[in-house]
Amino acid sequence: MTNVYEAYSVINGKQQDGGATTIYNPSNLSEHVGILHDVSSPVVEEATEAAKHAQQAWASLSGLKKGATLENLAVKLEENKEDIATLASSEMGKPIKEMKGEVARGVQLLRYYAAEGSRSDGDVIPAADPQVHQYSKRVPLGVVGVITPWNFPVAIPIWKIAPALICGNAVVWKPAKQAALTASKIMDVFQEVLPAGLINMLIGSGSQLGNTLLEKATIDALSFTGSTATGLHAAAICASRNIKYQTEMGGKNVAVVLDDADLDKTVSAILSGTFTSAGQKCTASSRIVAEKTIMPALKDKLKTAVAELRVGEALDEQNFLGPVSSKDQYEKVNGYISLAKKEANVVAETETIASDQEGYYIQPLIVEGVDANHTLAQEEVFGPFAVLLEAEDFDEAIDIANHTDYGLSASIFTNDLSRSHQFLERSEAGMVRVNLETAGVEFQAPFGGMKMSSSHTREQGQAALEFYSETKTCAIKHNG
Ligand code: NAD
Repeated sequence: MTNVYEAYSVINGKQQDGGATTIYNPSNLSEHVGILHDVSSPVVEEATEAAKHAQQAWASLSGLKKGATLENLAVKLEENKEDIATLASSEMGKPIKEMKGEVARGVQLLRYYAAEGSRSDGDVIPAADPQVHQYSKRVPLGVVGVITPWNFPVAIPIWKIAPALICGNAVVWKPAKQAALTASKIMDVFQEVLPAGLINMLIGSGSQLGNTLLEKATIDALSFTGSTATGLHAAAICASRNIKYQTEMGGKNVAVVLDDADLDKTVSAILSGTFTSAGQKCTASSRIVAEKTIMPALKDKLKTAVAELRVGEALDEQNFLGPVSSKDQYEKVNGYISLAKKEANVVAETETIASDQEGYYIQPLIVEGVDANHTLAQEEVFGPFAVLLEAEDFDEAIDIANHTDYGLSASIFTNDLSRSHQFLERSEAGMVRVNLETAGVEFQAPFGGMKMSSSHTREQGQAALEFYSETKTCAIKHNG
């Protein structure tokens, strides 16, 4: 990167001046990537006022017109795919191939929700009195607060913003500071199409701006993705204000390997599920549970495959994983790695880092020798790390898989149809998969978790339309 990008909050279509923080590339700490101009709490109400004003005109447009606008956003996003992906990779270290895929996902989401503008948004419901015509329709909520994490800096904001808009809402968006350059770039692109005030974006401290948005701003709903601790805090405030909310939170996902699994395919899926995005995915496999009989062969294959993984700069397409995103992440993940080196045994570790630059690089690691209650098997590490746990048989494997407070994604690797079905039934996770890595599902399918991973609503697909609207039941009697 040669250009230094300047990121500003946007309220009612206007960039906001503010303090300046320099952002460095986590792949190369001497490279200056951008400057964040952050704002403070007093502007939050200005942003919600602008949104409220813009929402009225937006909601009065036909679904077809709203859909056409979303289609234009998709076109603009696609035109800017390379620039947005490059900036995001340089800002938070996600490998460029993954980042391009993520922007492409954003384009798909916009197109999917653009088409909703021309679909039915209610039902005709029979009434007892034949002279009564009864129907339901979806109506907008108003102004939606959107709080997003840094780890999917394009896809997560868009999977909230696109359904919010097509349902007739306006948005006040607070991205994570660690992905605010990317958020600002998305706003640059979207502003070419959207009316002023329809999306307002605020860059600043999570606790300060976020809390003001939650506690004081006149928002009608909140969609939050981030850690479980922050999500529970947000949910409690929304509940006390009777504001509709959804919180998608942390995970401690599992890959279960049964004795009949195809080991080459399984190991390849586990590497992807565990180490892409340097393990910084809410759906990352951070526990691998294997039946006793297959454990030795699985360990051999993991040892060889992990040793050869390529870790290096995010913009180098040959690298399988990049650095972790920030100094905070580097210190937090290294804390778990130190604990693992002290209390567990190494099964597999990447040998080298393929970069001469100083960056937040962490060697991928898989360990064994701790039980399912250990901190390493219970807490979300959010880095290139997994713990291997042994099960006597299939039933014990399911018990271990479910032995977590979280419930986002769970996978099993087997060719046994009966045990596959049993796993899909008995697994306590919102997204369960057979012979596929733990991951987010496609844009047209519901995404979300059980237990402490979610407030039990779903994002994406048709489920998002339920969240971003309210149902009004209408009845009219013909007095003829
Ligand atoms: P985080 O909870 O620290 O921050 C999330 C967002 O909340 C950020 O925008 C942050 O600025 C804001 N925030 C922080 N304090 C706040 C407060 N007091 N009030 C309101 N907002 C506040 O999470 P993170 O580090 O950005 O993201 C990593 C976490 O997100 C992981 O736990 C990961 O599992 C989770 N995540 C979940 C999903 C999912 O869909 N389930 C997807 C991606 C990430």
